[in-house]
Amino acid sequence: MLFFICTIGKRKMKFLTFKLLSLTSLFLTFSLLVSSDHWKHNLELLDVLIISDHTKLKPFNLDTSGFNGIERTYVDPSIELFKNILKERGLQTAVLHIEDLALDHEILSRKHQDELYTNYDQILIEAAQQNVTIISLHLDAEKIATNDLSQIPYPTNTDAETYLYLGGAQIILDPRNISNESLQLAQKLLFSDIFPFMQNIGISIRPTYSSRLRLQSNISMHLAGSSKGGAALIELGALDELKRLFNTPEAIAKNLHQPLEEVATIISDHRKSHWLK
Ligand SMILES: [Zn+2]
Repeated sequence: MLFFICTIGKRKMKFLTFKLLSLTSLFLTFSLLVSSDHWKHNLELLDVLIISDHTKLKPFNLDTSGFNGIERTYVDPSIELFKNILKERGLQTAVLHIEDLALDHEILSRKHQDELYTNYDQILIEAAQQNVTIISLHLDAEKIATNDLSQIPYPTNTDAETYLYLGGAQIILDPRNISNESLQLAQKLLFSDIFPFMQNIGISIRPTYSSRLRLQSNISMHLAGSSKGGAALIELGALDELKRLFNTPEAIAKNLHQPLEEVATIISDHRKSHWLK
């Protein structure tokens, strides 16, 4: 059942085989990829890179497309809104989706997708080297029930059902790679008004993570976590709960406007305090 959790799956497992793109494979795959040089040459101009990690659809496998295969559909308007808020603050901001690296935004095969992810990972490494603030935006699984009583991390007396996983808004770092700046940024986000704003409109914070960071294995945070501009993965809430509360992806974005404004303020102040802006 764990493969339903958006931050767990193929994208995480892929780290095991991650290696730098060799010149040979770069030559062989060049015709199917947008030149990563396009990105690399522009990274030094960037303040913030927003990433989504997941594929938009699931033509080749299930587990890169996030929660229930629909995560991108529900998070993309919030990502677009967040980009616009950051730009209004004078921060040079870009969004990187995996399909942006494919010609005509079309992923042609599973192998092609793997190559795109290799390219994507390389861009994250270089963005971190350029002190770009890297923010990964996701929506979480809400509840995963279990009948296996030995596997319940959240025993509850108030609910007839038992759960293997209870999700919600949370802030995630990968313990294998956290710069002081990433830790500072994540703590500023955690102890800001972001979670109270969310709770005011009915969004649940992941149980036990309202005042602590979630540390877990995640490829993008592993690659980006060393950035002096800071990096963090933010789960904006549980997808099913957000759907129930606000109905459409666009309405979810609209309701997340205030918390995203707060995230933008914190990033702006963070970059100024580290002389990066
Ligand atoms: Zn996700």
